[in-house]
Amino acid sequence: MKTVDVLVVGAGLAGLHAATLLAERGHEVLVVDRRPTLAGAICTTGIFVRRTLDDFALPAEHLGPPIRRVVLYPPKMRRPVSLVSSRDEYRVGDMAAIYEAAARTAAVAGARISLGTRYEGRQADTFLMTGPDGPTSVRARFVVGADGARSRVARDLGFDRNRHLLAGAEQVFDVPPQEGPPAFHCVLDPTLAPGYLAWVVNDGQHAHVGVAGYADRFPDGVHRALERFTTRAPGLAGVDRPDQVERRGGPIPVGGLLRRISSADGLLVGDAAGAVSPLTAGGLDPCLRLSEHAATVLDEALRAGSPDPLTQYDGAALRTRFRGRLTLRRALAQVRTPALATTAFTLLRTPVGRAAARQVLFADRSFPDPRPPAPAAGAAAREGSR
Ligand SMILES: Cc1cc2nc3c(=O)[nH]c(=O)nc-3n(C[C@H](O)[C@H](O)[C@H](O)COP(=O)(O)OP(=O)(O)OC[C@H]3O[C@@H](n4cnc5c(N)ncnc54)[C@H](O)[C@@H]3O)c2cc1C
Repeated sequence: MKTVDVLVVGAGLAGLHAATLLAERGHEVLVVDRRPTLAGAICTTGIFVRRTLDDFALPAEHLGPPIRRVVLYPPKMRRPVSLVSSRDEYRVGDMAAIYEAAARTAAVAGARISLGTRYEGRQADTFLMTGPDGPTSVRARFVVGADGARSRVARDLGFDRNRHLLAGAEQVFDVPPQEGPPAFHCVLDPTLAPGYLAWVVNDGQHAHVGVAGYADRFPDGVHRALERFTTRAPGLAGVDRPDQVERRGGPIPVGGLLRRISSADGLLVGDAAGAVSPLTAGGLDPCLRLSEHAATVLDEALRAGSPDPLTQYDGAALRTRFRGRLTLRRALAQVRTPALATTAFTLLRTPVGRAAARQVLFADRSFPDPRPPAPAAGAAAREGSR
């Protein structure tokens, strides 16, 4: 039986980033993912926000053109609200290439990656999996659950589980070069996207057409809602939707960061930990930031030979910084009729409404910095003099 310092379950961005950081610090890391290839079964649009692009080394050659323009539409699509930032706000990643590049980075750092390998469960410090050659097991000092919104690791380790989920689905296809600037179009229509938005991102290279909402509130299911949306999706004038499109989709946890996400045996990162902005449903920036925090505490624990540092990995403490966004999520969830969505646009068209929308769409807030604040200079001096 293999023995490793850390078993990472899930080779999404959260798992691969945590694995890279731990391997770089000299720890023996095994990453497993049930996907046979990281270029397949992609579950995300791949919109990266400016803060992520500024703070993380994503491969520029796999990022689409910068987007500065967001257009918000009411249910009948009339009189949309157009917001333009003075800075580059978003870029859409070629996610197949980005996952593969992240896996190469992890492997170069020394992590082993085993694809086509499904985590099946745990017996004490032994983790059971089924790989291409059948059942296998590994012993690990710590496990990292990076296995998405419906985390099996969370269940096996007795952590909190995501209960507030949106269902999302989208189609992706190539578009011909276009005249106008790239844009992100969002439609607030609860019959298409109950509790969230329908979207089109057209960056002049690819179009992503998607909907997301509370699964039990779609009148005819998320996939029918997407089909309906494709017939009137904005931002695609002059673009013919090809017969063959890439289809993506999956659950999006929007209940905020979970409280109990660590124990002496391991911890959760990314969607498994509920690390998604409850309001925007963006999870790529949060998953990278939380994985950095996870790698730091695991590194300390492995060096100390004690799980004590994992107590610093405290979902309950971080969750308090999501209060505002959770309140706004509850407000968005209450927009249940097209009439209410149309009324919301009356507010959105005012200077105050536009300023509020800019705050959500263009502000630098995404995920609270998980590191505890450094002690103030005076406090540090007092501490040092004791
Ligand atoms: C339709 C949609 C669009 C989205 N668009 C955006 C966006 O544009 N921008 C943004 O910021 N966020 C977006 N999100 C959210 C974002 O994609 C996620 O928050 C982010 O990808 C989470 O990364 P992760 O590594 O935690 O999980 P994932 O990327 O889901 O990775 C989990 C991995 O675990 C593996 N796995 C699961 N169970 C097992 C098991 N038992 N054994 C082995 N492997 C397992 C899976 O195969 C998967 O590879 C979107 C989500 C959806 C559903």
